[in-house]
Amino acid sequence: MDYISEVHKDKVEYRYPITKKLYSKQSDFQKVEVYETKGFGKMLLNDDLVMVTEADEASYHDMITHVPMFTHPNPKRVLVIGGGDGGTAREVLRHSTVESAVMVEIDGAVIEACKEFIPQTASELNNPKLELLIEDGVNYMKMARASGDKFDVIIVDSSEPFGPSTPLFNLDFYKDVYECLSDDGIVVSQGESPFYDETMQKKLLSLVNELFPISLIYNYSNLTYPGGLWSFTFGSKKHHPIKNLDTTRIEQSNLDFEYYNSDIHKGAFALPNFQRKHLQEFLKG
Ligand code: SAM
Repeated sequence: MDYISEVHKDKVEYRYPITKKLYSKQSDFQKVEVYETKGFGKMLLNDDLVMVTEADEASYHDMITHVPMFTHPNPKRVLVIGGGDGGTAREVLRHSTVESAVMVEIDGAVIEACKEFIPQTASELNNPKLELLIEDGVNYMKMARASGDKFDVIIVDSSEPFGPSTPLFNLDFYKDVYECLSDDGIVVSQGESPFYDETMQKKLLSLVNELFPISLIYNYSNLTYPGGLWSFTFGSKKHHPIKNLDTTRIEQSNLDFEYYNSDIHKGAFALPNFQRKHLQEFLKG
């Protein structure tokens, strides 16, 4: 039996039995690989870190997308930074309110690999409502800010704060995000592990807290990100994700979700005590 493995912060190693290597390329930014695994379907890894698996991508993409998309009462224009597997864009485009979406992924190899081998996530990358750009999200935000472009929801679907993702975890980037959001805009970001990445969670939430009147973090459970429990950082200029949630919009959308529902949406903001204590000073709203 052949295996691939992910080592997380020299603390733990996850081993996955594989049946086939489907794609491997060293791009200008990272090593991009797709494997057929025995337990999780096709799996995308960037620099040996699991990005997406067919088995549990739905929970991640439901939670990074539908929490901000249903908190905002009428999201028409949406931006995804990163998210090269296409799962987040796919979920954004299911919302009938969306008139246009932009996705900015730095690495064309990720798009190429997922279009060919993981159509489950990449299925909407050719959707005419989506403008797909192969570009650095940091530069894109600067340009968008300079041109006065506005979005109702911005989703930062980045990999770990390592390599090309590093500047996506900085204040300058969030200042540009803030300026590019409409007056009632919302940003949600991949927020790392409450168990393994306390320091990074604190840093990311502190940036959001500095700029937004509502700064929160929410959790969901998954199979393949280390520790099982994972977080998203939430910044909003106006709408509160629980107090202002119109649950009838969720029910009337007639969208069928694998993980997300209105109870999960509200419950996701309930934090375990250790996490709440650690992040307390930056939770607002
Ligand atoms: N769900 C995944 C996770 O948490 O591991 C992340 C999925 S997605 C594949 C992350 C993407 O962000 C990667 O394909 C990576 O190339 C992209 N990315 C990293 N830095 C970026 C940047 N500066 N601008 C745009 N995309 C970036």
